[in-house]
Amino acid sequence: MKRCTKCILPETIPNITFDDHGICNYCRDYKTLQLGDEKGLLELFKKYPGRDYDVVLGLSGGRDSSYALYLLTQVYKKKVLAVHYKSPLSHEQGTQNAITMAKALDTKLVIITDKEDLHKKCFSNNVRAYYKKPSISMVSMMCIACKVKWIDIFDLAKAHGVGLVVAGSNPFEETSFKLAFQGIKEGSKHLYLKRLSKGVREIIKNPRYINKDTFLTTLRAYAYLDSKSPLLKLFYPGIRKIDLFYYIDWEENTVVDTIMKYGWEKPEEAKTSWRFDCLVGKMKDYVYYSNYGFTEKDDFYSKLIRENKMTREEALSRINLENQEFGNVENLDRCLNVCGMNMAELKK
Ligand SMILES: [Zn+2]
Repeated sequence: MKRCTKCILPETIPNITFDDHGICNYCRDYKTLQLGDEKGLLELFKKYPGRDYDVVLGLSGGRDSSYALYLLTQVYKKKVLAVHYKSPLSHEQGTQNAITMAKALDTKLVIITDKEDLHKKCFSNNVRAYYKKPSISMVSMMCIACKVKWIDIFDLAKAHGVGLVVAGSNPFEETSFKLAFQGIKEGSKHLYLKRLSKGVREIIKNPRYINKDTFLTTLRAYAYLDSKSPLLKLFYPGIRKIDLFYYIDWEENTVVDTIMKYGWEKPEEAKTSWRFDCLVGKMKDYVYYSNYGFTEKDDFYSKLIRENKMTREEALSRINLENQEFGNVENLDRCLNVCGMNMAELKK
């Protein structure tokens, strides 16, 4: 498969073109991320003083949120309320890591669960809806129920008088190809409204995405789709959600080396420390890989190359190793079995 000679994006990425040197348009149009800095973060801490805690942190137990807990408690000396969502579709090591890290860093941890099996119901419905009438831009509906959990986290922040809600996601993992699959240009205006309207049009074409079990969850997820949602401002005035690594430099080895000192582990079978905890993510990557021969990793590592945080050689050798697992449906079945499905049945 032909790949960009600068990053590793393959020719199957939507809207990709190559110049005479084999460099892709995603590289040519790339603008180095303009991120905030530590000063901005310190100002936010001042602007949003908390009552019972200084900040509320969403702690998945993956590597970035675990490192965020380390930074907040040890470097910035903040009193943190960590909230972990124990999803029926996540790897148990994620929950174990959240417990281990919170204990090691002397932090109060609240674990929330999938009440009334909403997550399971939404996931199984949306996977089936996809396989009945595949439309690649709707693959992200598989993880829609997880987005709703941020509302629970906001409720906890409100109850404890905390103004700053922190997520541990990093700016490089924001994929470009998902927007391209939706026919939306990255960085275009009114992104929230465009995504919303595209989603509604797709649901009209394939109404299987909506039924009595999923309607309310889907509605809430779309309503609170991102931190710019007007509903968040309306119902949670005075609360601000930030991504920590938009203010503090993120460097993979530092992240992993630091958290391992506190007992953080990745499961033995995982080939990478990135997103091993989310089985739904694997399901989505399986669909991208089986249709287009790439996964979110191709996109993520390409961004790291453009930001001089990874060499092209390393990126290539990592995807060669890490994308191998999509030939093996064991992980997927582990996720699907929770919802009474399996891959063989879906493929039929
Ligand atoms: Zn490129």
